[in-house]
Amino acid sequence: MAAPYGSPLAAELREDVLERFLRYARVDSQSARESQTTPSTPGQLDLARLLAGELRELGLDDVELTDHGYVMATLPASVSGGPTVGLLAHVDTSPDAPASGVNPVVWADYDGGELVLPGDPSQVLSPAASALLAERLGHDIVSSDGTTLLGADDKAGVAEIMSAVAHLLAHPELPRPRTRIGFTVDEEIGRGADHFELERFGADFAYTLDGQEVGRIENETFSAVELSLTFHGVGVHPGTAKGKLVNPVRLAARFIASLPRELAPETTEGRQGFVHPYAIEGSAESATVTLIVRDFDDETLAAHEALVAGLAAQAVAAEPAARFRIDRWDQYRNMRSSLEAVPHVVEAALEAARRVGLEPRLGSIRGGTDGSRLTAMGLPTPNIFTGGNEYHSVREWISVQDMAISAATIVELLQLLAQRLPGAAEGNGARASRLGRAAGETGPPEPAPPT
Ligand SMILES: [Zn+2]
Repeated sequence: MAAPYGSPLAAELREDVLERFLRYARVDSQSARESQTTPSTPGQLDLARLLAGELRELGLDDVELTDHGYVMATLPASVSGGPTVGLLAHVDTSPDAPASGVNPVVWADYDGGELVLPGDPSQVLSPAASALLAERLGHDIVSSDGTTLLGADDKAGVAEIMSAVAHLLAHPELPRPRTRIGFTVDEEIGRGADHFELERFGADFAYTLDGQEVGRIENETFSAVELSLTFHGVGVHPGTAKGKLVNPVRLAARFIASLPRELAPETTEGRQGFVHPYAIEGSAESATVTLIVRDFDDETLAAHEALVAGLAAQAVAAEPAARFRIDRWDQYRNMRSSLEAVPHVVEAALEAARRVGLEPRLGSIRGGTDGSRLTAMGLPTPNIFTGGNEYHSVREWISVQDMAISAATIVELLQLLAQRLPGAAEGNGARASRLGRAAGETGPPEPAPPT
């Protein structure tokens, strides 16, 4: 889609969203899985403090930085009677690529050629490898210098929210509902919602700005379970072990070899789930396999779990002295069924995207978001596109025009919600039929990679 999507509002927001994005991208706010603190790294607090200061300067109410590093603030309503709407993005960046010393490069007026990243010329953004890049002729592309990630995941979301809020404050004549801003920490290590206080946030529903491709509204995530499977054998000195020793390392290996190849992340896509052993450790006493299990459908997820238990039983079947034990943790749940109970929330996001000239579509994420946890906790939270690409890698890039169209979508979304939702003027039936039409137009959702 050509720049700038014919949206005058997006054109107006472009400069501000770029300036903010570059400022936030330079702060090292990478999260760390091995850390036991919240937030997991002090860099996240640096960005949180910067954002809290900017929100105060803009004139928002109730600006606070919580003990756990979340930033919260209120954009007061300009009209009465609407809902309280939440806007969320995460300040941390992925631990899966270097993130210190991010040096953003702006490639103005993209000409369709290859972009050789200056800090590491082996890293190339190629239109042959990315149809989305090839389509962005004339856009201004932002990448890192090739030695670090860029951090558009999720600083693009942060910058887009900030720009939209700044625009609405500068235009008090535009209708807007009471809006709660929330910047979260440690999303990339799965702890983004751990200390999120729903009552303190006080929104009726919310949106994460943490998606990718422009126009894509995500109302569905995987349901996710982690399993820890421990085999216990019989330890005997190997010199005198004949007929007595039961080796737990062999039991674990037998189990892993028995997992169906067609149910692995490397062999599945779209709406297929998987069973993924990702860590193993063992000794003469015991061996533990850690697995993640994923599916969009909760019954199929349960079937995958039952399969694991069945194969573990098979692995020990020939060894009467062997035992196994499975511990399980629910990680997050598919938010789709909860969102279907409040169809106007997703429909408003689709309609806002239409108002900036996009043809929006629904999508599913082959992963989770803060929103999947928050939705399960009672705050319906679908995910809106930010425009980012190649997340969690040194080849991450984003177009300034795409960031601007996302920010413009937020402005339109809030105006829309101030005017007609939730339902003073029209009943649930009207909203449901609008959603039905939208879903029918968009066809079956295509799942995206996790963010
Ligand atoms: Zn993200």
